[in-house]
Amino acid sequence: MSFLFDQVKDLKVKGLYRKLPINEGPCEAVIKLDGKEVINLSSNNYLGFANHPRLKNAAIDAIDKYGVGAGAVRTIVGNMRIHEQLDRKIASFKKEDACVVFQSGFNVNAGVIQAITNEHDLIISDELNHASIIDGSRLSKATKTVFKHSDMADLERILKERRDQFVNVLIITDGVFSMDGDLAKLPEIVKLAKKYKALTYVDDAHGSGVLGSSGRGTVDHFNLHGQVDFIVGTLSKAIGVVGGYVCGSQTMREWLLHRGRPLLFSTAMMPAACAAIIEAFNMLEESTEYTDKLWDNANYFKAELKKKGFDIGHSETPITPIMVGDEAKTMEFSKLLLANGVFVSGIVFPTVPKGKGRLRCMVSALHTKEQLDEAVSILYRAAKKMDILPS
Ligand SMILES: *Cc1c(COP(=O)(O)O)cnc(C)c1O
Repeated sequence: MSFLFDQVKDLKVKGLYRKLPINEGPCEAVIKLDGKEVINLSSNNYLGFANHPRLKNAAIDAIDKYGVGAGAVRTIVGNMRIHEQLDRKIASFKKEDACVVFQSGFNVNAGVIQAITNEHDLIISDELNHASIIDGSRLSKATKTVFKHSDMADLERILKERRDQFVNVLIITDGVFSMDGDLAKLPEIVKLAKKYKALTYVDDAHGSGVLGSSGRGTVDHFNLHGQVDFIVGTLSKAIGVVGGYVCGSQTMREWLLHRGRPLLFSTAMMPAACAAIIEAFNMLEESTEYTDKLWDNANYFKAELKKKGFDIGHSETPITPIMVGDEAKTMEFSKLLLANGVFVSGIVFPTVPKGKGRLRCMVSALHTKEQLDEAVSILYRAAKKMDILPS
């Protein structure tokens, strides 16, 4: 194990070694982290569903009815009635023809991209796409290339130069980019895809449950129903549980049930998780109060930060970066905030480019205005102390 020992030592020497913080209770607006109460500005639990009584009760009922495990992969006997119900629930909520649920969003990208492409195809990916898209693409036999972040001229250049050399071309983009909170230029991507006869694949992990009517996602936000071929989402972020899905045509569903490898070789989702998720979608269908509260909080928090002079980048969503720049300073800022009662993770290279270190604040529907005010004032005092605010 000396090769790993040396690598871990190297992390320590470079100041990159970290211990995982431990949360003692449920994911809430205030959490007990490593024994200390802090305002939580770092979870993806956008709507506060992760500890919601309605989801918890649905899960408990499902445990009584189905037990805790599915007992097999979906393609053998792990496909319980509740898995089928969940697929249909999501398809109907998203206004798409069909849906297949996987065990995680990561698994969707790991399984779907390789199943829908082959050696005659080209994958064109936004350079800031999520790691699971990068890894999923690596599992495909297709040729891969990237276009500059949201740069439509660059995307068109690639399409123009290379379209004719391939059978299918698949354009993949995040719906919402997780480090800056900006949206993909979906209407333009769809237009280019039509012009060059390419397929479109949108990973809407941070858009589902956040954007569109009652959280129907980025495709709904841009009113592009029926025009995106593969719509991926996660059930672990705004939906608050675990799992991932892809929506698209009925034929896509049939194919993935035969060739979506995580469905063939990894056990189906816990039935209680399916039940909790179905309840989450029931709640979103009944009312926009959850997404309204999220946006209300996000807009308030961003306005308050701007008033104090923070550089919050060009976010269009509740993801709120606070730009710092220097890596060491970013991590120092995060530590100082934690000591003062706010947990917000520092994001540095290689997750974002060198010199673009930032804190990434995640606002949720759970936060009260008082908690947000307190967080802003702690952020402000710490930033003053560290000379982070642009003067
Ligand atoms: C978080 C995320 C995933 C992974 O989703 P999980 O359900 O947590 O596995 C995939 N894609 C994007 C864009 C994400 O932000």
